[in-house]
Amino acid sequence: MYDLTYKKAKSCDAARELLAAADDGKLLAGGMTLVPTLKQRLAAPDMLVDLDGVDDFKTIMLCDNNLQIGAMATHAAVADSELVHTHLPGVAALAGQIGDPHVRNRGTVGGSVANNDPAACYPAALLATNARIHTDQQIFAAKDFFVGMFETALDTNEIITAIHIPIDQKCAYVKCPNPASRYALAGVCVARRHDGNVQVAVTGAGQDGVFRADEIEAVLAENFAPDALDAMSIDPDLLLSDMHANAEFRAHLVVQMAKQAVAKLQD
Ligand SMILES: Cc1cc2nc3c(=O)[nH]c(=O)nc-3n(C[C@H](O)[C@H](O)[C@H](O)COP(=O)(O)OP(=O)(O)OC[C@H]3O[C@@H](n4cnc5c(N)ncnc54)[C@H](O)[C@@H]3O)c2cc1C
Repeated sequence: MYDLTYKKAKSCDAARELLAAADDGKLLAGGMTLVPTLKQRLAAPDMLVDLDGVDDFKTIMLCDNNLQIGAMATHAAVADSELVHTHLPGVAALAGQIGDPHVRNRGTVGGSVANNDPAACYPAALLATNARIHTDQQIFAAKDFFVGMFETALDTNEIITAIHIPIDQKCAYVKCPNPASRYALAGVCVARRHDGNVQVAVTGAGQDGVFRADEIEAVLAENFAPDALDAMSIDPDLLLSDMHANAEFRAHLVVQMAKQAVAKLQD
């Protein structure tokens, strides 16, 4: 490590002021991604602004037919929340599958969303459910927020405060986890609104990060059943090949994960 200033903010305003005073400040959530990044010298901020003291950011509550999950809610808190279990059990299940107990007890919703790792689980759920990402400056629709691999629409020093997920729907997320990290080799979230509208988002498999699977959505709009996808194939040319899995295997996984997610949503 190298010298830097560490500050712990107790409010969103305090965090904003600290960042504004730094030359190159960075927010610290659970440190699950940021601390290894600093250790490898892939980033060298002059100040870390720790959000752990911002209690408002840890709240999980209902707000106007949305589940509001604070940016500093850990994956373990989401997985254990009665409110999340009651209104969006698919999101609780997603959080419970992230990484290992250490990662779930330190990693946060805000850190995950800000990082937009192409194999992370939350981006698929937020895109499929038409969630909104609230910041200290504005509100983003998920479709406008995730703009590429590790890229979001966040401005420099913009602070995610919470995510809001509409509860007029059910969703299910299924992933094929990398056996070492538990990140998704391919993960699919299927969301079905009470009016019947279906949206499907895929993580882990796209060359530009999370994406909506229009072809799967079209089939499920006609027939919301796992076997409706029996003849479905995804073009591997659009998918990611790396040391963990090639594009053809990921194309196969996307359809299989989608079928399993639909099966979970059968009444
Ligand atoms: C071994 C391992 C396995 C994992 N497995 C999975 C998995 O299976 N599925 C999955 O989805 N994820 C997985 N993760 C990611 C993990 O869930 C964390 O969410 C992710 O690493 C971010 O960590 P963090 O929340 O501690 O944020 P940090 O590491 O503290 O921060 C990450 C980035 O987000 C920025 N940031 C943090 N909070 C905010 C905010 N409120 N507003 C704006 N910017 C902010 C920081 O400045 C930094 O750039 C894994 C991570 C590890 C290390």
